[in-house]
Amino acid sequence: MAEDNGYCCPNVEEGLKHKGPRERIDNAVETVTPFIEVIDEIKKAGGEVYKLCYQCGKCDVVCPWNRVRNFSIRRIIREAAFGLTEIESEEIWRCTTCGICPQQCPRGVKLIELGVSLRRLASEYEVFPASVRSARTARASLVSEGNPLQGERKNRADWANGLSVKTFAEGMEVLYFVGCYFSYDPRLKKVAAATANILKRAGIDFGILGTKENCCGESVRKTGGEQVFTSLARENIKTFIDNGVKKIVVSSPHCYHSFKNEYPEFMVNFEVVHISQYLSELINEGRLEFTKEFAKKVTYHDPCYLGRHNAVYDEPREVLEKVPGLELREMPDSRKDSLCCGGGGGRIWMETPKGERFSDLRLEQANKVGAEVLVTSCPYCIANFDDSRLNLGYEEVLEIKDITEVIQEVI
Ligand code: SF4
Ligand code: SF4
Repeated sequence: MAEDNGYCCPNVEEGLKHKGPRERIDNAVETVTPFIEVIDEIKKAGGEVYKLCYQCGKCDVVCPWNRVRNFSIRRIIREAAFGLTEIESEEIWRCTTCGICPQQCPRGVKLIELGVSLRRLASEYEVFPASVRSARTARASLVSEGNPLQGERKNRADWANGLSVKTFAEGMEVLYFVGCYFSYDPRLKKVAAATANILKRAGIDFGILGTKENCCGESVRKTGGEQVFTSLARENIKTFIDNGVKKIVVSSPHCYHSFKNEYPEFMVNFEVVHISQYLSELINEGRLEFTKEFAKKVTYHDPCYLGRHNAVYDEPREVLEKVPGLELREMPDSRKDSLCCGGGGGRIWMETPKGERFSDLRLEQANKVGAEVLVTSCPYCIANFDDSRLNLGYEEVLEIKDITEVIQEVI
C-alpha cells in the first residue's frame, strides 16, 4: 500500500491537480476563486517555485516564531500550493521577512516572496485581521504624508533644527537620506542628530532632502502594498535625479536594502552606503579620530536587512573594535544566524503580545554575555529593544544605542 502523503492522491502532483490536502477537499468548491488567484499571485511572485518544496520542515526549525509560539511557514507554503490559503488569517502576517529560513531551504524556495504575494492578495481584498489593522493606518499615512508615523510632511526635517544641516544641492559629496523613524520618532531623532554631527566633524559636504524626502517604501512593500511602494520609489527616484544625487548615506538597513536591491527594478542605480560602512571608511581614511574612551562591555546585534539580506557583518564590528576602551562581546545567534528583533516585514506596525516578542529574547542574550550596551544600527531594532528594555526591567542593566551614538561620544 502506498505511504500516506497527506494528500487526496498517492501522487503529490495528482493531489495538486485535485486542489488540496484530503481533509480540505470538501471545501474545494467554495475555494475555487481564491485557488486561481492565489496560484496566479504566486506565479507572479517568481513562478511555481512552491512546487519545489518537499515539506522537509527545515524552515520551521529555524524560524524565530517557534521560539515563542507555534508557527509553520511550511504549512503556509503547502496550503498556497493548493490555492487553499486563508487570506483572512493572521498566519500570513506573521513572517518578519528575517531571511533565516530561505538560507536553510535545500530546494531554494523563495519563502519571503511567496509570503508577500499572499499579503498582496489580502491587501487587494482589504482583508486585515485585527492585529494587522495598524499597518493599514501606516499605509494611509504613507500615502498622505510620505511616512508611516502620521507625522506631517512639513515637519520632516525638524530633527535638524539648530544643527546647521544644509539642504542637499547638486555637487555635494553626499546625500544623507534620513528615513522616517529617524525623522519623526522622538528617541530616534537623536540618532539622526548624532549622524549629522559625525558627518560635520569628518568634514563631509552633505545635505538632506527635508520635506522632499519620502519613505523608501521597503516595509510597506513587504505588507503587500505594492502600489504604495511603487509610488514612493518613483517619487524618491525623481527627487534623486532632479537634484543630481550620486552617493546616498542611509541610517536604516531598510532604506539601504530598498535603494540597493529594489530601486534597480526601475532601471536606476545610485551608490548607497550604510552609515556603519561609511563610519568604517571615514575612520580608515583618518577623517574621523577618537579623542575619548568608551570603557564599556558592548555587544552588537546584526539587523536582518543589514546582515542576512546584505551581508554587512564586518564593518560595524570593525568600527566598534577600534573604539578605545570598548570591549566587544558576541551573542549567540550572531552574523548570518542573527536573531530577528521582530520588526521587519511591516511587523513594526503590528501588535505582538508580550511573551511573543523576539526582542525580549535578544535582550536576555545580551545580558547573559555580560554586555552593558546593546549596539545596533536599525530603527526597528532600536524601537523594539527599547520596548523590551522597559518590559524586562533592564533600565539599570542594559543601554540600547545606535552605532552613531557610540561614535559621537568618542570623537
Ligand atoms: S525548507 Fe524549503 S523544502 Fe523544506 S519545507 Fe521549508 S520551503 Fe519546503
Ligand atoms: S523569513 Fe524569518 S520570520 Fe519569516 S518564515 Fe522565514 S524564518 Fe520565519
